[in-house]
Order: sequence, then C-alpha cells, then structure tokens
Amino acid sequence: MSDLFVELTAPNGRKHTQPRGLFINNEFVPSKSGETLTSINPSNESEIVSVYAAGPEDVDTAVAAARKAFKDPSWRDMDTTARGDLLFKLAELIEQHRETLATIETWDNGKPYQVSLNDDLSEVIGTIKYYAGYANKIHGQVIDTSPAKLAYTIREPLGVCGQIIPWNFPLAMAAWKLGPALCTGNTVVLKAAEQTPLSILYLGTLIKEAGFPPGVVNFLNGEGRKAGAALAQHLDVDKIAFTGSTATGKEIMKMAAVNMKNITLETGGKSPLLVFDDCDLDQAVKWSHVGIMYNQGQVCTATSRILVQEGIYDKFVEAFKEYVSKTSVVGDPFKDDTFQGPQVTKTQYERVLAYIESGKSDGAKLVAGGEAYKDVGGKGFFVSPTIFTNVKDNMRIYREEVFGPFVVISSFKTEEEAIERANDTTYGLGAALFTQDITKGHRVARLIEAGMVWINSSNDSDIRIPFGGVKQSGIGRELGEAGLEAYTNKKAIHVNLGTKL
Ligand code: ADP
Repeated sequence: MSDLFVELTAPNGRKHTQPRGLFINNEFVPSKSGETLTSINPSNESEIVSVYAAGPEDVDTAVAAARKAFKDPSWRDMDTTARGDLLFKLAELIEQHRETLATIETWDNGKPYQVSLNDDLSEVIGTIKYYAGYANKIHGQVIDTSPAKLAYTIREPLGVCGQIIPWNFPLAMAAWKLGPALCTGNTVVLKAAEQTPLSILYLGTLIKEAGFPPGVVNFLNGEGRKAGAALAQHLDVDKIAFTGSTATGKEIMKMAAVNMKNITLETGGKSPLLVFDDCDLDQAVKWSHVGIMYNQGQVCTATSRILVQEGIYDKFVEAFKEYVSKTSVVGDPFKDDTFQGPQVTKTQYERVLAYIESGKSDGAKLVAGGEAYKDVGGKGFFVSPTIFTNVKDNMRIYREEVFGPFVVISSFKTEEEAIERANDTTYGLGAALFTQDITKGHRVARLIEAGMVWINSSNDSDIRIPFGGVKQSGIGRELGEAGLEAYTNKKAIHVNLGTKL
C-alpha cells in the first residue's frame, strides 16, 4: 500500500483504511509540495496521522478537474432522476459506513461517539437524501407576457463551487454544502478544516464508489490562509460557500470580489436566549442547557447569552446550575455516558480558558466551572462547563463569541428591555425565547434581529428549514428549499413568436 493510505485502529477498536491524499478526479494524490498537516486526538493530545495539505498549485488542479467535469455532458446533461439516484446511492453508502465515519469524527474532533453516530451521521444521511429528492424537482417558470412572446426560465447550476467548511461538524457541514450543489448540477472543490481533516477523505472513497463522474466532487485539506485563500481568490471558481468565523468570512468576501463570485457565508454568533417569567421553567432550563452545552459549546447558533426576567432570575440560575452539573458529564468521548468531550484543539481550549480569566477579571460572578477539566487521564483539551452571572453588557464575555461550554446569564425587567438587549450585538444568527404567552412569543420573535428564532426550544434546527444569519452572522441561507437558491441561476429565455421589425 502506498503512503496515500494507512491502516488505523481507533480508540474504540474499530479499524479502517484512512486515505491521506487530496481527493481530485476521484483519486487520492499527494500535494505537489509534499506538505502535510497532522491531525491530533483532542482527548489525549496524541498524533493520529498526517495527511497531504494543498497549496495554490493543488487548488488549480482541483479547480481544473471540477471545470472539466462541469462541462462534460456526462454530468451536465445527466438525466435529473439519475443525478438524484447518485445522491441516494451516496446516502446508502454513508449509512453502510456509518460506524466508521462516526468513529473517525469522534477521534478527530472529540465529540461524543453517540452524538457522531446518532446526530451527525443522521443529519448527513438525511441532508443527502433530502437534496437527492430535489434533483428531479427543480423547475423554471413560463412567464406569460403576450401571444407574441414565449418567455421561460431555466434554473441552471452556477458552475464550479468552492466550499470551505469548519471543524465543529465536519461531515454535516460537508453534507449541507454538497447536497444542494450536486442536486442542481454544479461541481465542487471542498476544503475541510485543518483541525479535522480525516472524515472528509473517507467520504471521498464513498463518492467514488457511488459513481460520481471524476472531477464532480473534489476534497482538499490544507490551511485556510493557503488552500482556502487560493480557492476564494480563484478566477475559475464561480461560487464560494463558507462556514466559519466572522473575521474569516469578511476576508473571504473581499477575496471573492476578485471575479465577483456568488457567495454564501454562515459566520459567528452570540445568540440570546430570553426567559420570560411566565415560562415553563423546567423546560427553559433543559433547553438552555442543550442550547449552549451541546457539542462542547462549539455551535455557531449556540444560545450563549441567557437573559432572564428578574422575577425568576434566582430560581432559574439555581435550577440551571444544578441541571448542568447533573447532565454535562465530561469524559472520554468514546464512553456512552459522556455528554461533553474535549474542545477540538489546544487553541480553542486556551481561548475558552482565556475568556474565563477575562470574566473573572472583569468582575462577573463565576457560579460553575471556570477551569480546565483534568480528570480524563490528565491530558486532553477538556474544560469544565462554565457559568457566569452578574454579567454586564459591556464585558467581553457578554459581547464576544467564546465557542465553548461557557454561558453568561443576566437579568432584565421588561419585554422592551429584553428585545433591545437581545439585539444589542453585531451578530444575528439564532435566538430563543421562553414564554407560555403565545401572543408575546410571536411578537418578540418578529422583533428579534436573527436569522432563526426558536420559541420554547433552542437549537433544534432541521434540515428542511432555512438556516443562516443576518447582520454579521452571514449572507444567504442553507438547508431547506432556500438552500437551492444558493446554487442556481435563473436564466431567462425570450422566444419571439411574432414581433416583426
Ligand atoms: P475558526 O476560527 O473557527 O477555526 P475559521 O473561520 O478560521 O474558523 O475557519 C473555518 C474554515 O475557513 C476552515 O476551513 C479554515 O481553513 C478556513 N479559513 C481560515 N482562514 C481562511 C482564509 N484566510 N481564507 C480562506 N479560508 C480560510
């Protein structure tokens, strides 16, 4: 076996063949420079394996492959039902390899295996099937003007789509982007995050097995500043879809301007969760916990700012603290009872710890956590679930995205104040609110500046429902029918049926 594949045995004993190359034209190839990057197991800080890292010259090769595939009639003119069948086949293969993919994801990212297996892989399979079903249901319109003209629209693919994904849900983020791009007939060059390079390569083997023509889907690993930037600036890339931080999103927007690429950006958040005093407190506590502590708090829509009406503030804080201490079991992600694994990298771990110090020095009250968690073999990037109260609106921990098991709680008096403070942020991704008053629920939901508002829940997103932000949380929507808009043009065709000059 060449050095492009390596046999690995994961901590749970599962064995698999791990590709290490760049996946271009349905083959794994080394990077031209020979550069690699190394994946680290965040649970014990050991090296898993190194994989090839793309440079600009590899991005050129992948984009050329995608361009060639885009023009090839075998893909361009493929019967739309057959195109859907390819995606259904991919979903079936992912289902067959579900345990292996979930194992790789947990090993590389640190998320609990039960979450990878049941949540992430269900989402991946569900998304691919959802868009497989759309492949033969994408229609243009006939627009009636006069008997002298037949006007109609065709929804055509954009072309070569660059896709840049983050590390918090590697396979799911890939599926969100691949599903709509492929069912509409685009071709793709997708770059995974350098922190989690492994699962996407394994997915490459399934792309090939499913029977996608060479070049339709290409996967690159590589650093954001090198491979990501080369993709975002590439003159032969028609679209860039990005999920990641707001700062990088802004950079990508600038780079994409070079040839006026179509863009979809899904970036950061500091999403508020409002608890009104007429809510079902028990449910508010439980959903608030999911809303911030799920996936080690590494969720862009995490409701990380909890605002509680003053009449029930003390009760909420007490019940929330109790629920977190009972439910957020920190531990080895391969153990079944683990709720919270390690943060993905040392950088993220240190970032969360730095925000803990910031909260303490700014005078917020630490009511739980506030330190590294060292009871999982003494190593790894584990952080105790952290709650700060008495948080002021000008503190960094109230304003900035932390991306960890870290929440701030503050109190409000009136509905007006709650809305004003919920909106007092540069972000606008998610928001949640708890009330038993149905009128108030809808009224407040309309006034909150966010792409998504959950009434009496938090973060129970669904692949059939549009996902995305306003303000500095992004541009455009993914998922649902809205996700198709991001990958098609409406071409208008005018047929003259009688206007004579
Ligand atoms: P985070 O800070 O959470 O790691 P980033 O926004 O930096 O998030 O990264 C998300 C994705 O964007 C990753 O795939 C990363 O490699 C990529 N990326 C980072 N910087 C750049 C850049 N300057 N140009 C293009 N892609 C980038």
